[in-house]
Amino acid sequence: MNPNVDVAIVGGGVAGAALALGLAQASKTVLVLERETVPALNGADVVKPAGINVLRELGILDQIVKRGRVRDRLDIYYDAQFVTTLDYKEDAADNFFVLTPYAAVLEVLRAALLQWPNVEYRCGSPVTRLCMEDDSVTSLQLASGEHVRARFYVGADGAQSFVRAQVGLTSERTVYRQRMYFGKFPIVSSVDDCNRLYIDSRGALAYFYPVGTTAFRAVLGFSDPEGTRLAGSAPEVLRARLRSFVCASGDAVDKLDGLASFAQIPVAYMHAPLYGRGNVALVGDAIHCVHPITGQGMNLGIEDAGALVGLVVGMFDGQYSVAECLEAYQRARWQVNRAVVEYGHALATSMTDKQAFVSNFDRQMQASRRRSSSASART
Ligand SMILES: Cc1cc2nc3c(=O)[nH]c(=O)nc-3n(C[C@H](O)[C@H](O)[C@H](O)COP(=O)(O)OP(=O)(O)OC[C@H]3O[C@@H](n4cnc5c(N)ncnc54)[C@H](O)[C@@H]3O)c2cc1C
Repeated sequence: MNPNVDVAIVGGGVAGAALALGLAQASKTVLVLERETVPALNGADVVKPAGINVLRELGILDQIVKRGRVRDRLDIYYDAQFVTTLDYKEDAADNFFVLTPYAAVLEVLRAALLQWPNVEYRCGSPVTRLCMEDDSVTSLQLASGEHVRARFYVGADGAQSFVRAQVGLTSERTVYRQRMYFGKFPIVSSVDDCNRLYIDSRGALAYFYPVGTTAFRAVLGFSDPEGTRLAGSAPEVLRARLRSFVCASGDAVDKLDGLASFAQIPVAYMHAPLYGRGNVALVGDAIHCVHPITGQGMNLGIEDAGALVGLVVGMFDGQYSVAECLEAYQRARWQVNRAVVEYGHALATSMTDKQAFVSNFDRQMQASRRRSSSASART
């Protein structure tokens, strides 16, 4: 039976949408199947140089920048003492990073997709089954009962990836005994001035950065027991706790509500050993979960998508086989992703020891400077 499209992508988050755009620009027919009727509004806010590079190639960097704030430095403190400045002018390939909320990045990607008649982004379309023959997918079944056939399939369906499980690419996921809390508040001058990350020897963190020109994001991290206790306490208890290790952002702390009003996510460590099987590849959180302290969850998904585009196009053009395409993708991305996942793990597990934390802090890793890796199928 003829395929409906060249590539069917399960999951219309940032990674799936970026991949769809790259493939559409290369004249491939693409169907993105997104489970939610309204795609997620929550997620990371940071795009760093390695992701910026891909967005520039996709031709949407200007719009991402317009929707966010450009920064070039981050000040880091430990137990209320200044430790260092991460200066992107010195430590990164591009000399800036962009703070654009996940929802805005996704909006820009979706608006760009609308200009391509060869791609459809379909909301409210959960994929409920992968029909398989041996190792290959023959069709996707949607909740509506409809079947979608493609020449190649991609799982971009996030941390709980259904596609990963269906094709048997299991991967161990370890949840840290720490939660991250995300809140948005009216901008204050200390945040308008500079991004500041505070680490505390009792295992907490606080990161303040602007979201647009009128608001700032407070990202807080606490151990599970402390987070639970603080979420049940008055806002003043949270603010007092933060003042014990936050020294240069008092105006931001003053604005915070109680922790119960923050969105919260569990933080996990995961890196899949294999990024694809048969005629299926995986991208983004489906293959890795990095600690948010790296600020690279969204970035890595965009980078995966950028690497996969050229390889899938080369495969369709007959330059190499599906297996060669998957091998080259694994080669291009696995070491990079592993390094970031391990780096995040090292930071997350050394927060209570200043010397260890400072020696684990790697300016180039934090700024997403990548060691070059080959995306050619023949090397
Ligand atoms: C509140 C919040 C704050 C965050 N902050 C940070 C941070 O500070 N630093 C950091 O590094 N990372 C952070 N992250 C993580 C970061 O947002 C992710 O790493 C990034 O969004 C991954 O992109 P993705 O496209 O791979 O997956 P996702 O964004 O999870 O997208 C997957 C998509 O697949 C869809 N889907 C799932 N199953 C199916 C199915 N069966 N059929 C169809 N569609 C399906 C989902 O609805 C979703 O839209 C944060 C996440 C959240 C939620």
